[in-house]
Amino acid sequence: MKRRTFIEKSAIASGMLLTFPVLNSCGTETATDYPVTDLHVHTTREFTIEKILEIGRKQQVNFGVVDHPAPWALRNDKDLGNFINTMRKYPVYVGLQPTYLGWSKNYSQELIAQLDYILMDPQMVPQGNGKTWQIWEFDTYIDDTEDFMKRYMDYAMQVLTQEPVDIFAWPLFLPVCIARDYYSLWTEERMQQILTAAKERNIAIEINDMAHTPHREFILKAREQGIKFAFGSDCRNDNAGRLAYCRSIAKECNLQPEDFWLPEQRV
Ligand SMILES: [Zn+2]
Repeated sequence: MKRRTFIEKSAIASGMLLTFPVLNSCGTETATDYPVTDLHVHTTREFTIEKILEIGRKQQVNFGVVDHPAPWALRNDKDLGNFINTMRKYPVYVGLQPTYLGWSKNYSQELIAQLDYILMDPQMVPQGNGKTWQIWEFDTYIDDTEDFMKRYMDYAMQVLTQEPVDIFAWPLFLPVCIARDYYSLWTEERMQQILTAAKERNIAIEINDMAHTPHREFILKAREQGIKFAFGSDCRNDNAGRLAYCRSIAKECNLQPEDFWLPEQRV
């Protein structure tokens, strides 16, 4: 993708040589003593981009705004183009959060190349019978945990190896009914399989503030292997940018600014 070229041109063309609002700020009272970026927020009719920017100013956080390329959100090129053009007027990164495999065939490659980044999670897990688990739903029903884990890993691998992805979102998240087994289900082998696939394509790992995943051991392993991170709140409300879990686990793991992945800047 020639994102950088586009970004430079569009920035100059639209006179948008803005600096991000807080990139150069310092001395804020956060667990991490460097400016942070929340690369996973969504707008809604009520939670507007203006509100996001206001939070950014107050809390000293930069944002990346994503939307879904899907029949119920950005349905086609026209929608995608509108989203990009609208968001480009603001000092935020602009990304997509696809929810199904092969989505990119339904959109113009030229438009996709205009995005700053793509963030994808493995939360729509095929059950093998035509149905799909939507594992964020609290009533997700799993009758055979090992069978679920196998299918979940297979799906995660497809996301990590076949899709255009910059950030692997909601890593290691488990449905509520099996979440208590987190530390036994995330075996060394499964964790390493995810890390190897991410490393292979330089995909960053999201530290997800809503799910409080992944955990310390996984983050330390990832960092040891040279994998970068991105904070994500996945919020559509005033909790965007709070990042309490992200900040605290980053501090515990001693993550430094260079451990974080960011889209290329447009200035
Ligand atoms: Zn999201």
